[in-house]
Amino acid sequence: MAHIWLLDGDPREWTPMPLVGDALTLVNGTLRPVDETPPIPFAQTRLVIRRLAEATHTWALLTTSRALRLNGDPVPLGVALLDDRDEIRLPDLTVWFSTEAQAHVEPFPESTRGFCPRCKQPIEVATPAVRCPGCALWHHASDELPCWSYASTCAACSKDTALDAGYRWTPEDL
Ligand SMILES: [Zn+2]
Ligand SMILES: [Zn+2]
Repeated sequence: MAHIWLLDGDPREWTPMPLVGDALTLVNGTLRPVDETPPIPFAQTRLVIRRLAEATHTWALLTTSRALRLNGDPVPLGVALLDDRDEIRLPDLTVWFSTEAQAHVEPFPESTRGFCPRCKQPIEVATPAVRCPGCALWHHASDELPCWSYASTCAACSKDTALDAGYRWTPEDL
């Protein structure tokens, strides 16, 4: 899931905030849905991060702030597409956008068909499964068929199968 890295907590640490929903804004250093109630005052909405297409990592940045810098550059017309590891800087706040995904167990979706690359068997709808964040192939993740965690890497690519492996990239890497 795409996320925003921002400094949070005490002591302040780089913290990933998942982009849940279709449009979010940063108010007082936290990500909030644009359409929450009561509405966020317009004057506080300096930037909005908006999903452009369902189930993709395509997000756009919209801003009313002339002081905002995206990777060091102003944003003409206040609209830009976001790329992995983009830096968004306001005079008092710097955040990073990342599309890196982490592996997690979820019910195998109805709209999907697939054979597990580990055991070559079909995956039943609604059974526990993991979609590899590296190659996007689904693996069984049930007690009977623990195909995702069976080995230290994905059956089809080099992605680490630890579910709590953490993000490979953080702003601290800079
Ligand atoms: Zn399997
Ligand atoms: Zn993979």
